[in-house]
Amino acid sequence: MSPVSQNLQAVRRRIAAAAEAVSREPHSVALLAVSKTFGPEAVAEAAAAGQLAFGENYLQEALDKMDAVTSLLPASRPKLEWHFIGPIQSNKTRPIAERFDWVHSVDREKIARRLSEQRPQGAPPLDICLQVNISEEASKSGMPAEEALPLARAVSTLPNLRLRGLMAIPEPTDDVARQRREFARLRELMEAIRHAGIPMDTLSMGMSADLEAAVAEGATIVRIGTAIFGKRDYAK
Ligand SMILES: *Cc1c(COP(=O)(O)O)cnc(C)c1O
Repeated sequence: MSPVSQNLQAVRRRIAAAAEAVSREPHSVALLAVSKTFGPEAVAEAAAAGQLAFGENYLQEALDKMDAVTSLLPASRPKLEWHFIGPIQSNKTRPIAERFDWVHSVDREKIARRLSEQRPQGAPPLDICLQVNISEEASKSGMPAEEALPLARAVSTLPNLRLRGLMAIPEPTDDVARQRREFARLRELMEAIRHAGIPMDTLSMGMSADLEAAVAEGATIVRIGTAIFGKRDYAK
């Protein structure tokens, strides 16, 4: 078995154990494999092990990889699903609208409007999560929590987008109680938005180091890079 497929099995076991610990159905947590900085071969290896959803942060890298992966996989393989999870520049929305299935990192209305306008006719609506800065660090992307409801209202009216939920990247900490508090804050924010009458079904939260806390607080998508593909080398 390849290292990537072994790692995938281990991550799936971690998700299942974390779900069972809080009496959740393991299948209620989707695994997004974050393949940034890893090549098309690594994606193809994961796809061969049954992983079909991939997350990418850097647009040009992602577009190159999508094309290269297609030629590595047999034509009979199920289609891969691509999720954009990185910061979005407003002049780069078109290829995101054209080539991705999901965007997790929408944090302002201008970006949402452009994605809706630029989604190709005939394509299914683009699935959207709003990125919230749950730890309120100045350096991180995502909007302040109080902007989430107005943005959710705006996005839910855009024709070619489907508002799915919220995403956050909390400040890293080894303190599990603190991890859980931050994830709970995102869950409570989603509950408040739903209470205001805007449907949402997705909490995109949890990475390699904190997926257990995220699953305990209701994550429906965990975004896992390092634990599947290994340590990233940004110098390459
Ligand atoms: C890189 C990245 C991940 C994956 O992080 P790991 O710690 O490697 O699992 C998840 N989400 C986002 C937004 C990322 O940029």
